[in-house]
Amino acid sequence: MTDLDIANAAQPLHINDIAEKLHIKTEDLEHYGKYKAKLPLSLIDDKKAQKSKLILVSAISPTPAGEGKTTISIGLNEGFRKLNKSSIVVLREPSLGPVFGLKGGATGGGKSQVLPMEDINLYFTGDFSAIEKANNLLAAMIDNNIQSKTNNLNIDARTVKWKRVLDVNDRALRQIIVGLGGTTMSVPRETGFDITAASEIMAILCLTDNLSDLKARLGRIFIGFTHDKTPIYAKDLKANGAMAALLKDAVKPNLVQTIEGNPAIIHGGPFANIAQGTNSVIATKMGMSLADYTITEAGFGFDLGGEKFLNIKCQSAGLKPEVIVLTATIRALKYHGGKSLEELNIPDTDAVKKGLPNLEKHIENAQKFNIKPIIAINQFTADTDEEIQVIRDFAQQSGIKVAIANVWAKGGNGALELAQDVIETLETTSKDDFSALYKWEQPIEDKIETIAKTIYGASAVEYTAKAKVDLKRIQKLGLNHLPICMAKTQKSLSDDAALRGKPENFSLSIREIEIASGAGFIIPISGNMMRMPGLSAHPAAEQIDIDDKGHITGLF
Ligand code: ADP
Ligand code: MG
Repeated sequence: MTDLDIANAAQPLHINDIAEKLHIKTEDLEHYGKYKAKLPLSLIDDKKAQKSKLILVSAISPTPAGEGKTTISIGLNEGFRKLNKSSIVVLREPSLGPVFGLKGGATGGGKSQVLPMEDINLYFTGDFSAIEKANNLLAAMIDNNIQSKTNNLNIDARTVKWKRVLDVNDRALRQIIVGLGGTTMSVPRETGFDITAASEIMAILCLTDNLSDLKARLGRIFIGFTHDKTPIYAKDLKANGAMAALLKDAVKPNLVQTIEGNPAIIHGGPFANIAQGTNSVIATKMGMSLADYTITEAGFGFDLGGEKFLNIKCQSAGLKPEVIVLTATIRALKYHGGKSLEELNIPDTDAVKKGLPNLEKHIENAQKFNIKPIIAINQFTADTDEEIQVIRDFAQQSGIKVAIANVWAKGGNGALELAQDVIETLETTSKDDFSALYKWEQPIEDKIETIAKTIYGASAVEYTAKAKVDLKRIQKLGLNHLPICMAKTQKSLSDDAALRGKPENFSLSIREIEIASGAGFIIPISGNMMRMPGLSAHPAAEQIDIDDKGHITGLF
């Protein structure tokens, strides 16, 4: 059975019944059909949110398929509900790039999925479209201003950083020239398209608290310079009001359900390599206002999504997680132990042992934030008892709790051990335990070095000549106080995708440093970061179909 078959076999409840489990009145819901509803921001209750326990699900360095954080997060929520706890899972919205590309959707897997799976993976409640429109409105206003004689800010077209976005992997749009066709068209300039999840608007939507903050952040988007080197921001173009108006519904979190009929909120979807990689602050606060336990996920390994979640999102929004569930798979450990992707289903306890340093480093990293990690072994059918025992022995020696999570095969029944471990741990923790790794006020280079050395294990940081110029520009623009949103490969703790396990004695090289002054962070880029992915020779889209009755097939 495919994930879609399993999802289709489920009997979803009406969204009113899901809302009832959270004590939300039906009249407060903004219905999008029978199974989806938007939640008004008025349901956020800071006092209640203060009392909710926040559980962050992260992972070791992943193989290309992903190690199952979303699946574990959903399954863990089912487990909590089976133990009669008031809980909710809060997740990101999938991007159409991966859905039609290689990786597939992001609604969990097997018996641990959110519904309606097709809707969530396709255009859902239109949030991505609204983000795209807001992004492209700003792009249109920039080109219009450059063209206009009467309303001209003297923008130097060659310095404009702002690109258009589209939620499709389309490499043909990466670099384009706009404005061809003569004097009445526009001023020709080089630009390009990013995928919607990579838009700064997505990052902004996911860090904002409310509409006035949203408008202010949109206004602070850096666009480029005038011919006399004055910086230009979106507010100089008076674009931010209209952009915020376009986002009026997109800021509201989406309520859906899990296969076992439990509440889930899905909202916002920034990528984890070039952006913060986690659902919106508003959604997290909403979840925490409605349930005693809020389970959420941060993209890729702990070194990327986890670090950014804690240093950017938590510091920005005043959130304090108390437990980190570190997802580990036997497959990924074998991969870090030197095996190829083709060999991961062959039992090999030695390879698992050789891969342990990767897990060990991520545990150490979680502890640097003074938050207790718990290892969740996401069980695959190919795993042997001997291989699992390797992780159990390691955990025992390290004094870390470990639980098998067989949520993919069993749903909530496969998460009871993990849920118990999380609950027990939470009895010994407090919100005040959390300490961020750096202070935002520290100089940019200090912050970068702290992340590189403490989290990645680098021995030094190197800057290209371009990156040094970028540092000076950040200084000049007065943006030193912003936190760091590191852009690096997810495949390794280092910036070299080929270095698996626990790389040592490497220096992190920063190629360039971008400014996301609207979102409120600085993006040092190491290596080549893809903001507009391409499709593969045989994209997943080839397998997706719909029949006369409207049944969709081929999504995964
Ligand atoms: P992540 O959130 O870490 O990227 P996902 O939860 O999205 O990972 O899982 C990635 C893929 O692996 C999904 O297609 C999911 O169905 C599949 N998957 C996850 N856990 C298991 C498992 N235990 N057995 C088989 N497939 C799994
Ligand atoms: Mg995920």
